[in-house]
Amino acid sequence: MRYLITGGAGFIGSHLVSKIIDNAEKIIILDNLLTGSEKNINKYFDLSNFQFISHDIQNHYDPEENIDCVIHLASCASPVAYVENPINTLKSGSIGTINALGIARKYNSSFLLASTSEIYGDPKISPQHEEYWGNVNPVGPRSMYDESKRFAEAATQAYITEYKLNAKIVRIFNTYGPNMKLDDGRVVTNFIVQALKNKDITVFGKGLQTRSFSYVDDTVNGIMLASSYKKPDIFNIGNDNEITINQLAQTIIDITNTKSQIIYKDLPKDDPLQRKPDLSKSKKLLNYEPVIGLEKGLEKTIEWVKKNID
Ligand code: UDP
Repeated sequence: MRYLITGGAGFIGSHLVSKIIDNAEKIIILDNLLTGSEKNINKYFDLSNFQFISHDIQNHYDPEENIDCVIHLASCASPVAYVENPINTLKSGSIGTINALGIARKYNSSFLLASTSEIYGDPKISPQHEEYWGNVNPVGPRSMYDESKRFAEAATQAYITEYKLNAKIVRIFNTYGPNMKLDDGRVVTNFIVQALKNKDITVFGKGLQTRSFSYVDDTVNGIMLASSYKKPDIFNIGNDNEITINQLAQTIIDITNTKSQIIYKDLPKDDPLQRKPDLSKSKKLLNYEPVIGLEKGLEKTIEWVKKNID
C-alpha cells in the first residue's frame, strides 16, 4: 500500500507510521510542523519507503505518483493549540480536507478522515453513538475546532455521495500516550508533568466532568481497522472506560507517588461535562476492541514523560 498521511508528524500520526511502516510500499508525510515535530518521525528519514514533505495541506498538493490510501490527520487538536491558532484550525478542517479529498479522488484511493468526539459538543446523551448529531456552540471557544471537523465530515460525505469515494470517518475520543506535546495543556500530560515535578495538580471545575481515555496504540489500531473497512462509514474510536477528571488525577497521584496536591480552578467555558464513546458499531463491524487499561497506559506514558521532561 502507498499511503499519504497529512499531519503524520503529530502525536497520533507518528504512532500510525510506526504501525504500518514495515509493510508499506511507501509512506508520504505532509506536515506543516505547527503542532507536529520532526523528532516524532526522524528515525524513519533514512528508509527508502518513507518521505517527509514540509507542506501545509491548506495549499494545493499533488503527489504525482499513485496513492492507495489518504489519511487526513492534519489539524491542531488540543484546546490550547486550536484556541491559539483558530484560523489555521478552520482552514485545515475545511480547505485542507477538500485538498486531501481531491488527492484521493484523483488517484481513486481510499480516504480516512480523523474526526473527533468534539463534533458531539457538550453531548446531551451518553454514551455518544454515531447517529447522534451533537450539541455544538457555533461561536464558542471550541467552535473553530468543532465546526471545522463538522465541515470536514460534511465534505467527506459529499465526496462519498458525488464521487463514490471509499471514505471513512473516524471520531477519535481522548487519546494519550508517548509523543504527546508536554506543553499543550491536555489533561493527561498536564497532570503527569505536575505530578513528576511535585507541583499542584490543576483540576478544572469540580473535577466531576468525565472523559474516556484511550491509549494511543488502541486508537491507532482502530484507525487502521476503519481505514481498511470495505465501504464508506463512520466509526467512534477510543476507549469506553469513562472516569471523572478527579479519578484521573487520583490515579496519576497514586502511580507517581507524588507529593502534589489537587487544586481546583475555574471550568473553561463550553467544557463538555461528559464524554463516552458508544463503541458497539466499531466492535461489531470492525472487530475493534481497546485492550490497554488506564493504569497500564498511564504507566507507559509516565515512563516516556520522565525521559522527555525538561
Ligand atoms: N482539565 C483539567 N486540568 C487541566 C487540563 C484539563 O481539569 O490542567 C480538564 C478539562 O477542563 C477537561 C478535561 O480535563 O474537562 C480534558 O481536557 P483536555 O484539554 O485534555 O481535552 P478535551 O477533552 O477537553 O478536549
